[in-house]
Formats: sequence, C-alpha cells, structure tokens
Amino acid sequence: MNCPNCKTNNIRLFHDSVWSIENGKVYQCNECTLTFIYPMMNEKEEREFYKNFNEHVKARGLATGESLENYHNKSLMIAKERMDIVSKYFVDKSKVLEVGSSTGAFLSLLQNCDTSAVEPSDDNREFSKQFITNKTYSLIEEISESEKFDIICMFHVFEHIKEPAKFLDNCKKLLKNNGIILI
Ligand SMILES: [Zn+2]
Repeated sequence: MNCPNCKTNNIRLFHDSVWSIENGKVYQCNECTLTFIYPMMNEKEEREFYKNFNEHVKARGLATGESLENYHNKSLMIAKERMDIVSKYFVDKSKVLEVGSSTGAFLSLLQNCDTSAVEPSDDNREFSKQFITNKTYSLIEEISESEKFDIICMFHVFEHIKEPAKFLDNCKKLLKNNGIILI
C-alpha cells in the first residue's frame, strides 16, 4: 500500500477500525503525514455514499428523523458562527462557490453576493436552491472552466476529499486572479 498523496510506502497503522467499514483501518504516512482510510471507496461507491449522505448521518445517530427544515435551522446557528470569522473576505457582489454546501445555510447568510453551490446529496441540494442566487451542481467537475469565482469556500469538507491535490488544482482553475480558497 502507498500513500495516496506522496506515493511513498513508508506508512504506519494509525487506528485499527473504522465505523461502518468492515475491515477498514486508518493509516498515516510517515513522510507527508496524510492520515487516510484504507480501503477507500471507489468512485461509484463514493457517489452513492454522498448522494444519500443524510441516511448515513442518521444511521450514525448524528441526526434523528428530523425534517430538512429543522436540520437546516440547526445548521444556520453553526453557519452564523462561521460567518463571524470569515465575513471580512466577502464583499458586495463577490462571486462565491461553496463546495459541500449542504442545505445552503452558510450561503443563505451572504447578502449581495452571487452564490453557487456544489452539493452531492440530492435532498440537500434541492432544498438549498431557495437560498442560492446562481447555480447548483452535484460535482465540482460539472462546472465549466469559464466560470470564475472570487471565493471558493468549504467547511468540514476537505477531509472528505479522496484526491486533495487534484481537487485543489480543480478549485484553482475556477478562481479569478487574486481569488481565494477558504478551507
Ligand atoms: Zn504521504
């Protein structure tokens, strides 16, 4: 087995089990320190997983059978705390893309910005459309490279990304000159 980031085979066992993944273990790279789950989901499994992410969250006991509306309202409290920290980056008419935007709680707080969202969960993406002024996508790869953003932001998302370096390259292609990525 090799590190998915730097490809070295200098890796160590970090933790010997993963919730919900039979035979899953956590490893850490001794060279670049990336900590990762092995085996990883393949592309198809990953798409299915995030498409139905709410079911996973419920199964894990992190949310009960509550409505999306309730879930969104809870998310809104966290989004407001987040906004207090990062609001200085958003100015009038900023063109913003949030990756992993869930029900759109964070984007709903942005006044006078042009907002787009990437959200793989179908339920969350549909719900979020009422708050988003521009487009919604299920995958970042669906966005044309002619679209350019001032800010690409993501919260509790980067650690879910299977190929982080490739993902950041994809984000960079969608940034305007002097655009920023907020993680
Ligand atoms: Zn590594």
